Amino acid sequence: MTERRQPAGLERLRADYEAAKARLAEIGFTCEGSLIERYTSCKNPNCRCQDPDQRHGPYWQLSCKHAGTTVSRVLSAEDAARYQEWIANRRRLDATLKEMNDLSRQAGEYILAGQRRPFHGPEPPAQPARTTQNPGISPRHVDIPGFCAPSRPPLRPKNHVLPGTSYSS
Ligand SMILES: [Zn+2]
Repeated sequence: MTERRQPAGLERLRADYEAAKARLAEIGFTCEGSLIERYTSCKNPNCRCQDPDQRHGPYWQLSCKHAGTTVSRVLSAEDAARYQEWIANRRRLDATLKEMNDLSRQAGEYILAGQRRPFHGPEPPAQPARTTQNPGISPRHVDIPGFCAPSRPPLRPKNHVLPGTSYSS
């Protein structure tokens, strides 16, 4: 009846937006890039790693872009745990910001449609072309050497000698 009453759809958009803001406030430190857990085999035909279930690793590899080039770094397990948390936080941050943008756009369209005016925001972004790896997913047990470092040789563990503490035969 009263024209000033908010449509239910807008109330829900507002509630979702507030919920997203609250989630945003909880997010800790962030980091770009993705973390890959890798297992490798060496060239020694007598090594245990010839069994696919006993390959060397895990090696933790951080991949991120520097000036358009993907760079990979091997991390210690301790650091990998830290990066894992920061990267998960960044994904939450990105997803929440995207959700807030989407909700804002819907709200803008809703509000202006009520005034019989079009919404003049930019078009929703097209889905970006997928690169070799979906950056939103950290695959486990990646076998492909150098999968995401095209400008670099495949990554190999340094000094690949079996540590005396394990599986010396
Ligand atoms: Zn080996």
